[in-house]
Parts: sequence; structure tokens; C-alpha cells
Amino acid sequence: MISKILIANRGEIALRVLRACKELGIATVAVHSTADADAMHVRLADESVCIGPPPSRESYLNIHQIVAACEITGADAVHPGYGFLSENAKFAEILDAHGITFIGPTAEHIRIMGDKITAKKTAEELGIPVVPGSDGEVKPENAREIARKIGFPVLIKATAGGGGRGMKVARTEADLDEAISTARAEAAAAFGNDAVYMEKYLGQPRHIEVQIVGDGEGNAIHLGERDCSLQRRHQKVWEEANSPALNVEQRMKIGQVCADAMKKLKYRGAGTIEFLYENGEFYFIEMNTRLQVEHPITEAITGIDLVHEQIRVASGGGLSVRQEDIVFSGHAIECRINAEDARTFVPSPGTITHFHAPGGLGVRIDSGAYQGYRIPPYYDSLIGKLIVHGRTRVECMMRLRRALDEFVVDGIKTTLPLFQDLVSNQDIANGDYDIHWLETYLAKTSH
Ligand code: ADP
Repeated sequence: MISKILIANRGEIALRVLRACKELGIATVAVHSTADADAMHVRLADESVCIGPPPSRESYLNIHQIVAACEITGADAVHPGYGFLSENAKFAEILDAHGITFIGPTAEHIRIMGDKITAKKTAEELGIPVVPGSDGEVKPENAREIARKIGFPVLIKATAGGGGRGMKVARTEADLDEAISTARAEAAAAFGNDAVYMEKYLGQPRHIEVQIVGDGEGNAIHLGERDCSLQRRHQKVWEEANSPALNVEQRMKIGQVCADAMKKLKYRGAGTIEFLYENGEFYFIEMNTRLQVEHPITEAITGIDLVHEQIRVASGGGLSVRQEDIVFSGHAIECRINAEDARTFVPSPGTITHFHAPGGLGVRIDSGAYQGYRIPPYYDSLIGKLIVHGRTRVECMMRLRRALDEFVVDGIKTTLPLFQDLVSNQDIANGDYDIHWLETYLAKTSH
């Protein structure tokens, strides 16, 4: 059994994990940098430890300090949240060596899914549909032949990829040499590794991802999908569950494919299998071996607390539900509220002078922000998430509109005005958008 959890993160996700621990009667330890001494998760935790100065490298990414904080406080498990050390296989191994439970998958599974080519091969072996592409690395000398086989347009991607860097489209054979050399140069600069591979380029896909949880013993369930197609620079902005593009049969079919794959893998913990979806087909792009920012919309439509499940399976307690017991109910939308200008997306750190969050049926706010809170400039600009649930998508959109009207954050700029625009947009109302929609909309409406 786990009796004390150290939360190796900050911001809204640290608070989110802390809430789950309290509900399970588990003691909590917050860690924080000197810039976060006033943070809400620090105030609400049973104990807290300062682990270093503001830069993440010296605090939230500092494995030695985090292990020391576990030893000092007697924490017997660590929840990594998302980002920071959540997908660091070395961290999972070091905790293991200290007899501390890592609330997440095995180091081996983190490693497999962390490398793009290995992840894709593994997914294919597990029966998950993948984007047609090269069999591993592509060299300039064999690129032409591979591209002809796949069919143009093709996408050149860095094997060490991340954040969309080292990615180039070749629309015709004439573009190929240049696309490969720029992708390789970008990959070398960003990751110190110029290896690239090739995939069929999908023109107008949606981003649809499946939430899974496994117990590490060969049992696994899926909790349906999320549609995260509304993105800016590959960053998700608005997510919804279910996807407006899928019907029940499609949902249950792709969900089952993913759950079956995780059973075969004996995957432990929560994970997300991400796909591009076009013309009724799913194409695997990657698997995230952690909790995602947008997990609350899945919780809203299933009533299942994903952090409770993570803690249960990490302590060997198994899953709390069977697949056949899961009921998908209604529709949920999440808006990511960033401390940024809603048009230019320039970060806007500073002090929140007034804060009023909406409430009422079907409205959830995950945020560590409060009146008087000073947003430090060192970390990402997500200050909270507005999650709205309704019995239908229409009800959900109406509720979202009124919740946005109530939401007041003064003293800094936020992305709230963008959501006011989106919730009134006809394409969004129709659920009619792909991964390029938001960028096109922003370019069209910029003043
Ligand atoms: P990264 O790890 O760099 O974020 P991903 O493989 O997750 O790379 O892809 C990031 C984004 O790039 C996707 O969300 C999608 O917008 C685009 N993308 C990736 N692969 C393809 C593809 N084969 N065709 C079209 N777009 C793609």
C-alpha cells in the first residue's frame, strides 16, 4: 500500500493529483522551487519541500533533490504529473532503486514509446494501425524509392522528434532532396541526432486520441477518445470528448484495438494513444505514457477518476472497473486558459488582481490561480482549465458560453477571449474542423 505520495510537479496538475490523494486518504508532499513558495498546491499539501531555484533544470527536473525530498519526508511513492520527469525512464529506474514507487508505467515501456521508430514498430506489432511509411530510418540515397512506394505528398520526420521540429513536407519528387536536408539539419540542431524517417502526409486529418489504463498484469481498459484537433503550433487549445467525428461503433472499435494492444503489452498505468484520423481511417502517431493535460474531459463523460486509477494500479490494487461497466455519458469540452495574449500568444506573467471562477452544474475548474497570485515567468503559461459537461454537445456548448461569460481574470492577459470567439463560431458549433482549422482561423481574423 502507498501511504505518502510526493507530487513531483507544480501548477494545476500538482493540485489535481493532491485532490485525488486526499480523497484516497493518502498523505501528500509538495515540492516547489523558490518561485513557487506561494503556490496553492504547496499551501494545501500536508508537507512541502523546497527543491531549488526557479529554473526547472535545478528544481522540478532535479532528480537528486526529488529523491532526497522523498527520503526526508518518508514518501513511498512519486506522482510525476505531466511534463517535467513524467516520461523520464531514468527517473523511474532511480526511484525503483530507492524502493520508491513510480506512479506510471515501467521504465522499459517509457523507453519504447519515447523513441518514434521503436514506438511505431511496437504499435504495429500490437495491431494498432499506423501511418504508411518507411521501415525505419531513411537515407538520402534510398529516399526517392521509398517516397514513390508511399506516394506523394510525404512527410520527413526526425526519429528523435518532439514539438513538431525536424518535420518537412515534400509534395512532389522535386521537393524531396531539400525536404530531407532541411529536416536533417533541423533535427541535428534540435536533438543532436539527424536521423529521419518518412511517412505518408495526411492533408486534413483530425487529432483523435484514446485514453487507456492498464494494471500491468495483462488487464487493460479504454475510456473512449478525445478530439484535440484545435491546435496552434502543435499545442492543443480546446479538446472535446467524444469526438464529433466518430459514431459509437467507431469509438468502441478503435478503443478495443487500443485496450487489446495494452493487454498484450501488459501496460501499467494511464496512457494515451494518439492518432491522426482521415477518411474514416486511424493512423497512430505516438503514445504518451502519462496523464495528459486534457484528461478531465474523459473523467467528465465516464465518471472515473484517472488519478485514483493510476494510484490503484501502481500499488497493485488493480483497476476499479471492467470495460463493460463503463458508461459514456454526455459531452465534455476543455478550454486551456493560458496567461497569454489571446491574439499574439505572447506570455503575460504578473499578478492576478481579481479572480472569479464560474461554477454551477457541469462546470469544473482545475487551477491553482487565486486573487493576488503572482504568475512566475519561468514555466509554461497554463494557469487553469475550464472543463464543461452537458448531456448533449449542444447543452455543453451553451453551458461553456455562460461559464466563459462568468469567468474573470484581471491583472494579466489570458486566452479567455479566444474561447469566447470559438464558442460562437459556426464551424465549431458543427464540429467541423481539422488540425489546420485554428491556425487558418487565426490568420484570417488577425488584425
Ligand atoms: P512531435 O513529437 O514532434 O510532436 P508527432 O508525430 O506527434 O510529432 O506529430 C506532431 C504533429 O505533426 C501532429 O499532431 C500533426 O499535426 C503533424 N503530423 C505528424 N505526422 C503527420 C502525417 N503523417 N501527416 C500529416 N501531419 C502529420
